[in-house]
Amino acid sequence: MKGLIFSVKRYSIHDGPGIRVTFFMKGCPLSCWWCHNPEGISPDPESVEQIEKVGEMEFIVPKQAGEYYSPGEILVILEKEKIFIEESKGGVTFSGGEPMLQPEFLLEALRKCKSAGYHTAVDTSGYSQPENFHSIIPFTDLFLFDIKHLDNLKHLNFTGVSNELIMSNLRLLLESGKDIMIRIPVIPGINDDKEHLESLRDFILKNKSRNLKKINLLPYHRIGSSKYKKFQVPYRMDGVEVPSPSRMKELKQYFEETGIKVKIGG
Ligand code: SF4
Repeated sequence: MKGLIFSVKRYSIHDGPGIRVTFFMKGCPLSCWWCHNPEGISPDPESVEQIEKVGEMEFIVPKQAGEYYSPGEILVILEKEKIFIEESKGGVTFSGGEPMLQPEFLLEALRKCKSAGYHTAVDTSGYSQPENFHSIIPFTDLFLFDIKHLDNLKHLNFTGVSNELIMSNLRLLLESGKDIMIRIPVIPGINDDKEHLESLRDFILKNKSRNLKKINLLPYHRIGSSKYKKFQVPYRMDGVEVPSPSRMKELKQYFEETGIKVKIGG
């Protein structure tokens, strides 16, 4: 069995504790307006033209986004970084795209990583059948779980899917006792109005539990915008400004009122 992965990030420090290797799995059922990984959305390998510079000369080089890895190959990559992972109390993170879109591979990879002694994390949009979460819970130490919008119609408009399944999976994970970090992308004009921030804070207060370890506020950025042309996907965020550091600081203080640790960024 193999999983389709579009990027492997070594020495990652934003996807869970310590130094980690993050595997970005290809395919996502959402299509968020602000997504900075458009190459992660299609569940198939894609060829793209990349511009490479040699001195002043530019060359168009064909590249493939998406390669197949077996769970055994995942372990081989981890073994090479083992010393950094162990020293820093890090681990492995499966991100995307949406890792839960390849549930059999994810389960097998997590099972193998866990039995080799690695701390395991899954970074998810939450949009998957509950049975997929039930099967990976025993092999996952930490869930990084996105909340994008609590208003269902707005969620549907800006991500392409309803948030009902997502919110019910979040409750399932909160009850599972596994560590959870809630990740909130801060998207100006889309989910950062006073009313929505208030409902987010109230939701967190109501559902606060011992295993809810942290809130990560992820400021919108434009880093992925240039990729959209390459993947022939329309970019819908033109004109949206990135939130200022002082605005992010203000939001951090606001969410700290829940009593949960808040971090700006991953
Ligand atoms: S859930 Fe994540 S990977 Fe999927 S479209 Fe949204 S931002 Fe992109």
